[in-house]
Amino acid sequence: MSKDCLFCRIVAKEIPAKIVHEDEQAIAFDDINPQAPTHILVVPRRHIPSLNELAAKDAGLIGHLHLVAAQLARQRGIAESGYRVVLNTGRGAGQSVFHLHLHLLGGRGMRWPPG
Ligand code: 5GP
Ligand code: ZN
Repeated sequence: MSKDCLFCRIVAKEIPAKIVHEDEQAIAFDDINPQAPTHILVVPRRHIPSLNELAAKDAGLIGHLHLVAAQLARQRGIAESGYRVVLNTGRGAGQSVFHLHLHLLGGRGMRWPPG
């Protein structure tokens, strides 16, 4: 746990969030500034700053985060209509919280390419 990391503090329940999934490896909660009707962040409990710091031994973890996103998409009823899973890496790509997280976005049409 990193004391000055926002998502570590949400994982530790020091900062409140609308948690929609919890397991041994991951938690998921509603984004505070939703960009779509469904906008959930899927976060590993362990502090990993970004995809750049992920190691080969973390292959199972990054796979698990995607499986959680897919399960939440089914629960929200957007699995068939379509959803997007986004992993911003680095400031130039829009990453603002340096604790790895997947965005699960859905419930509206999505454009391509993203901005
Ligand atoms: P990034 O820009 O790093 O890919 O995504 C960070 C996300 O975290 C943003 O979508 C932002 O709205 C969300 N966020 C920032 N602060 C908080 C917070 O305190 N609580 C929650 N639930 N989401 C947050
Ligand atoms: Zn963290």
